[in-house]
Amino acid sequence: MAPIDRVSVGFVSVRLNDQIGMSAFGTLLHLARLNHFHGRDFRAAFGLHFHYRDDLSHLLAFSERNQSRLAAAAGISQELQGLWPVEPWQPFSGEGLWSALPWKLRACPSCLRAGYHSNLFQMPWMARCPWHRTRLISTCRKCERPLLEGFRQGLDLACCPCGTDLVNERAVLKGDPHQSERDDFLEAYLNWTAVERERTTMLWPEQHTGSGVDALAALWPVPPCLNQWRDSFAGCRPHIHMERLGRPCASSTLDQQAAKDLMRCAKSLWPEQAAMAELPAEFLPSLLSITRQIASPLPAISLTTREREALALEPVGSAASIPSRQDLMLLPVQRVANGLYLDVRVLHRAAYRVIANLSALLGLAKHEPTPATSSAHRLLLTATRRTLLRTYADGFTHVLGRYVPALYDQTRVRAGPRLPWIRIRRDPQGPQDVTIAWSTRQSWDADVKPVVR
Ligand SMILES: [Zn+2]
Ligand SMILES: [Zn+2]
Repeated sequence: MAPIDRVSVGFVSVRLNDQIGMSAFGTLLHLARLNHFHGRDFRAAFGLHFHYRDDLSHLLAFSERNQSRLAAAAGISQELQGLWPVEPWQPFSGEGLWSALPWKLRACPSCLRAGYHSNLFQMPWMARCPWHRTRLISTCRKCERPLLEGFRQGLDLACCPCGTDLVNERAVLKGDPHQSERDDFLEAYLNWTAVERERTTMLWPEQHTGSGVDALAALWPVPPCLNQWRDSFAGCRPHIHMERLGRPCASSTLDQQAAKDLMRCAKSLWPEQAAMAELPAEFLPSLLSITRQIASPLPAISLTTREREALALEPVGSAASIPSRQDLMLLPVQRVANGLYLDVRVLHRAAYRVIANLSALLGLAKHEPTPATSSAHRLLLTATRRTLLRTYADGFTHVLGRYVPALYDQTRVRAGPRLPWIRIRRDPQGPQDVTIAWSTRQSWDADVKPVVR
C-alpha cells in the first residue's frame, strides 16, 4: 500500500503530487473522500466558492481563484497545478471555445474508483481511458443519472442517489496499479498538444452549439504520434460533414487582378460589419448554381418572370402575375458594374462571424499576396469560399422560405443552419491546411443565446 501523506494542513492524501494530470476536480474528490468532507465543508476546508447547481469539474477547470485556493489548501506543486486549466489538454490555444459547448463531468469509471479525474477526459476527441481502456462515462452506469446528481442532492461527491458509490476509498488508498502506463500516455499526449498549439488556429461559431462537441472531436482524429492508443480516440464522426483543404502547389499563383479581388473581399467581410460583402468574381458560378438548385423546385406559379430571372431560373410561360417583390429580387448575389455583392444578412450570424474571422486572416497580412505567399492565400480563399457557399445555401433557403412558404412543401428541402468549426494548421510558409467540420443542422432561432466572451 502506498504511504499516506499528511500535508501541512493535516489532510489525509496519497501521493497527490505524483498524480500527474490529475484535475483540480480530481484533487477535490481525492481529498473530500479520504477526509470525509461534505459539500458544506468545502468552503472552510478548501476555500471553494460554489453553488450546488455548478458542475464542480467545470468550475475548477476555469476558475483561477478557486484553483489557487484549493492548491494552497492541499499543498499542490506549481507543476501539477499548471495542468488544472483546460488549455494544456487542447491541441489549440485559447479557452474561449468552451463557452460554445455544453460541459458535464466526464470520467473513466476505473480512474474514478481510485479517486482520479483528469481534464483529458473532458476533451471530446477522447472516448476511452488510454490506460484502463474503459469507455468514458458522464452518467451513472446503473441508473444513468449525471455523475454529480448525488452531490447536488447533498450526498458525498461521486455517490449516486441510486446507491452506487463511484469511488472506492480502499482503492484510493492503494493507488492505481496502472500509474506507469498513465504517466507514459500523458507524457506523449502533452507533448503532442504542446506542438499542435504552436501551429494551430481554431475558428468556431461563437454561440452555444450542442453538436459542436462532435464537430470539434471530428477535427482531431488519432494523431500519428499517439497511434498506439488509437482505440482511446473518438475517431470519425459519420454524421459530421468534413472538408479538408491543402495548400495548392507553389505554381498556382494568383495574378495581380486576382490578388486585388482577394484583398477587397477580405476587407469587406469583416466581423462587425454585417452589410454588403464584395466577393471575388470567381465565387459567382457556384453562388448562382446554389441559388438555382434551391429555387428550382418552387412551383412556377409562385414566382414572377423577373423574380425567376433574379434567382437564375429559366423563364416559364405560367409565371405568377403578381407584382415582383423587390426584396426577393435583391436576395441573391448582385452583380453591379464589375463587382459581385452579397448581402451577408442572408447568412446565419454565427456562421458569418466565422467566415469574417477566416477572411480576416487574409486581410491581416501586411501586404498584398506575393508569389511566395500566394499559395497560402489561395488556400484561405478556397476555405472562405467553401464556408461561404454552404452558409449561403442554408441562409438563402431560410429567407426564400419566408417569402415563398411553398418551398418547404418540397420534401428534399431541409431547413436549419449548419455551423462551421475550422482548424487551420500553419508551417513557416503560412497556412498549410484547413479542415472544416460542420455541426449538424440546428433550429434557426438557436442564436438567441449569444456567447459572451
Ligand atoms: Zn482510467
Ligand atoms: Zn446511479
